[in-house]
Amino acid sequence: MSIKCLFGHKWAGCVCTRCGKTRFFLPNGREAHTWDGCKCSVCQKRNTFAKKDDHIWDGCYCVACGLQAPVDALGRDVFDMHDWEAVSSSSEEITDGQVWLGGHFSTMTETITTNKYRCRRCGMERETKN
Ligand SMILES: [Zn+2]
Ligand SMILES: [Zn+2]
Ligand SMILES: [Zn+2]
Ligand SMILES: [Zn+2]
Repeated sequence: MSIKCLFGHKWAGCVCTRCGKTRFFLPNGREAHTWDGCKCSVCQKRNTFAKKDDHIWDGCYCVACGLQAPVDALGRDVFDMHDWEAVSSSSEEITDGQVWLGGHFSTMTETITTNKYRCRRCGMERETKN
């Protein structure tokens, strides 16, 4: 808690106008936020209870609250809707062990390449190994 609000917050509905802290319930037990679709129109907090139709999906994320679309939100695989950009690639050599080859022990190695991708739109990251 902010030192500014040591003696109590200055609530304006769901948000403290001094420190920016938000609350879910008013003292009378009612919901504090003013939900406008998937977010609160007062404090911009995301409505975690929003239904999928409350969000404004644009491909892989919601343009209103920035939520990444879950796979089933749009009834199809959101994975393909991300705009993947390769950000890094690294290779490491791993040792598979020694095998008896051509009259002597030979070390078997395998190169694993890790490619990192980030979605240009929502920032989600993923990795592939091969
Ligand atoms: Zn406060
Ligand atoms: Zn709010
Ligand atoms: Zn949303
Ligand atoms: Zn995305």
